[in-house]
Amino acid sequence: MLRQKTAVVTGGTRGIGFAIAKKLASQGANIAVIATRGGEAAERATETLRQTGVTAKLYLCDIRDSAAVDETAAAILQDFGAVDILVNNAGITRDNVLPGLSTADIDDVIDVDLKGAIFVTKAFVRSMMRKRSGSIINISSVVGLMGNRGQANYAAAKAGLIGFTKTVAKEYGGRGIRCNAVAPGYIATEMTAALGDEQREMLVKNLPLGRPGEPEDVADAVLFLAGDGSHYITGEVIKVDGGMYV
Ligand code: NAP
Repeated sequence: MLRQKTAVVTGGTRGIGFAIAKKLASQGANIAVIATRGGEAAERATETLRQTGVTAKLYLCDIRDSAAVDETAAAILQDFGAVDILVNNAGITRDNVLPGLSTADIDDVIDVDLKGAIFVTKAFVRSMMRKRSGSIINISSVVGLMGNRGQANYAAAKAGLIGFTKTVAKEYGGRGIRCNAVAPGYIATEMTAALGDEQREMLVKNLPLGRPGEPEDVADAVLFLAGDGSHYITGEVIKVDGGMYV
């Protein structure tokens, strides 16, 4: 149970992040959601979290902006008192073969998927150090472990996130803070909705478990890493990929 705990979930308004936020809320954690877009859908997602009986609040912040991240973290700490669980989930793709990747495609993906997670972690780690406890979970990707044609920028960012995870695990283990990564495979969300039918069939055909993953499959792994059941695990990468990278 995560009652009395507070979790921050970046990109928690939809897709995998929303499933993670719902899973943590279902165990009693209060939730601070960070996303760039407000509006009806984001408000509805936050209201869904509240309906589980926890406190949930949406903070609009572009995690590429380190000053905005610091301000948002200060507001969250003011509102919730402390943060016990941080899930760096926000991410984007800008896919193309290497010669086709624009400088903006490279910058955008590294800025959100890698630098954004570093900024957010940096903004919360001191308060976790003061509490001498915390669980940080970074949502990487199997692509960061095995590479993927057409995703050089994304694979580099997600591999970088794994190096970051291991470093935070080493730097803050002595302060009671654990840091792990989850590496999803092919999960059905808006991010993967752009795949063509042929590409989708090919991906699924090669999966030992024979189906795409659901956001809840990733959320289950995050819940395990967030809670006490994983208290001796840090610096680890858990693949949630239906066997894609066996
Ligand atoms: P998604 O449906 O596209 O959702 C992405 C989330 O990130 C949204 O809530 C979005 O909120 C937020 N976000 C994007 N840019 C942001 C920024 N600059 N600042 C703050 N928030 C931002 O993606 P998803 O499929 O759920 O993916 C979630 C994570 O899992 C990503 O890190 C992704 O790389 C990883 N992953 C996904 C798959 C997959 O198959 N789907 C596989 C492996 C790994 P706004 O739109 O409001 O900004």
